[in-house]
Parts: sequence; C-alpha cells; structure tokens
Amino acid sequence: MPRSIAPVESAREHGAPWQHELAKAVRDVDELCRLLGLSVGDLPAAAAVFPLLVPRSFVARMRPRDPRDPLLLQVLPTPAEDGVVAGFTTDPLRERDAIAAPGLVHKYHGRALVLAAAGCAVNCRYCFRRDFPYVEHGATRAGVAMALEAVAADAELHEVILSGGDPLLLDDERLGEVVRRIEAISHVRRLRIHTRLPIVLPARVTDGLVAILRGTRLASVVVIHANHPAELDDDVAAACARLASAPAILLNQSVLLAGVNDSADILAALSERLVEMGIVPYYLHLLDRVLGTAHFEVGEEVARGLLDALRRRLPGYAVPRLAREVPGEPAKVWIG
Ligand SMILES: *Cc1c(COP(=O)(O)O)cnc(C)c1O
Ligand code: SF4
Repeated sequence: MPRSIAPVESAREHGAPWQHELAKAVRDVDELCRLLGLSVGDLPAAAAVFPLLVPRSFVARMRPRDPRDPLLLQVLPTPAEDGVVAGFTTDPLRERDAIAAPGLVHKYHGRALVLAAAGCAVNCRYCFRRDFPYVEHGATRAGVAMALEAVAADAELHEVILSGGDPLLLDDERLGEVVRRIEAISHVRRLRIHTRLPIVLPARVTDGLVAILRGTRLASVVVIHANHPAELDDDVAAACARLASAPAILLNQSVLLAGVNDSADILAALSERLVEMGIVPYYLHLLDRVLGTAHFEVGEEVARGLLDALRRRLPGYAVPRLAREVPGEPAKVWIG
C-alpha cells in the first residue's frame, strides 16, 4: 500500500510538535464533514486504498458548510474517483521505467529524484503518485542508501531532488543524515526538496530543519506545492520565511484542477500571494492522467487561455510555466 503513514510511530512519546499534529490528522470522512458542518456523501471504493488524510490546520482554512470549498475538494474522496475514463491509468508517466536504482527516479539530465519517504501528510485526491508502489521501489532507508550510491556513481548528477511521498516526513535527525550523505558526494552541488509540508503542516519547518539547510555546502532549493491562495495563511507565510532565511530559493508548483483553481482570478491571486511571501511561481502542471482523477482535468485549450490571461495581468516573474509531463521527453514540456 503506497500511502500507509509510518512516521507517526515515533511521535507517540518523544515526537516534535509537528509529529503530534500529524498523528492527530483527520482520517475519517464523517469527522471531516462534522467539523465543516457538511452532510456525509457516498465514499468511493478508491478510499480504501488511498484514504482520507488531512492535518487539522489545513481543515481550519476551509470554509464551513461549503461543499465546493477548493481546499476540501483537494482532499475529500468522492464517488467520481471510481469512474473509469479512457486514457486514465495507474502509471501515465511511466515512472516505473525510469527507476535507475532502488529509490531513484532518473529521467532528466543532471538531476535525479530520490524517493525519500513513502507517505505524505495529506492525501491529495489528484495525486500523480497515488498508485505508486513506493516501498517496492525503494522508498525505504535501505532504498535511499542504494539511491545515493547510484548518485555517487554518476558524475553527471549535480542535483539531488528529495521527493516521495514527502521527504519532510523524515524527522530532522534522519533528514540531516541523508543530507550529510548527499554532501559527501563531491559532484553534487544542489539539494532540492519537493514538499507540501510547509503548506499543510507549517509546524514542520523547525529550527532544526532550517539549521540543516543552513549548515550544508549544497545550494538549497525548496519547491512547495500550493494550488489556491486560501492555503497560504500567516502560519504558512512564517514557515516559508524561516525556510528562506536558511537561505533557500523558494519555488511553488501547482496542479491545474477543475473546480479548485481553474480561473484566472484565482491563479492571479495565488501568484500575487506567493510573490508577497517571497516564493516564485514555478510550474502550473496539467493534470497527469492518473486513474480516478479525470474529474479534475482541465483541457489544454482552456489551460492556454488561463495562461494568456495571467500573462496580461502579472509581471513575468509571477507567471508560472504551464507544463505537462510526457514520458520519454528530456524535460517537462512547456505549453504556450
Ligand atoms: C519533474 C521532475 C524533475 C524536475 O524537473 P525540473 O524541470 O528540473 O523541475 C526531475 N526528475 C523527475 C523524475 C521529475 O519528474
Ligand atoms: S503532497 Fe504531492 S505526493 Fe503527496 S499526496 Fe499530495 S500531490 Fe501526492
């Protein structure tokens, strides 16, 4: 099962506050609906393998009694997920073909992605890796060690991307260990972290995490993942400011999602808020055609129209790159 959440174990007695918060995340649809004053709808069969998971601080940013709330739609399992739609499969990106070593996805020149953790602090219904067999592909302690051996053996790799799942589910001690191992590889110059934790669980950005980034010789880039401006409250802004102080370059990636952010007003507000927080809008991804996510898809023509609208309204640095991942291409494909 890709999404079983392991790290709560260590939170039981000695964990950091963020680990306690994660342990108390909402996992029950009835409870979520009760918290928001909503009636409970039917559940998809998909929820049995990819269950509801959402931290309470993220729930607190949702509007009560609004079944169309854009944050709620990202996390609530709905019967639409059981629909079978032509072209939507469990591995549209053929990531399993790009496994260069256990725990290592190497598709693009100079950089490779380490599957550092098997779970996330939130289960996003549109997730492109919702069916990914993480553990089988090395998102384990032993897998990370093998992945880094493969990085050490390839002098063309200058950047290691910690991904997952969410690599910030590793605690500071373990993460520090991983960063020291990466640092010991002389041809690696940059560390990139792909994480949604500063958004959904901002308490994860501890002084210890900032110290790890501050203490490394590697240049640090942190790519966060927010899709809607309502995700970006003051706690998130403070967490991002702590990260930036390391220093780290902060970028955001979003997924274009029907009903969540498929409007020029929302996307423009998201970009403006990000820039005010010191974060550069990096990618706006077209949905990967993963089984169970078709109801989130926004067509390419509509997406191009939205991008045009953003370009007319925003400074160039605030316009994200509209991108699609195409298996076999040497980079993400930019659209428009
Ligand atoms: C998206 C991705 C990257 C990073 O691509 P950038 O364009 O550098 O952000 C690296 N490796 C894999 C396997 C990816 O999917
Ligand atoms: S945070 Fe990213 S990897 Fe994790 S469930 Fe959401 S989209 Fe998927």
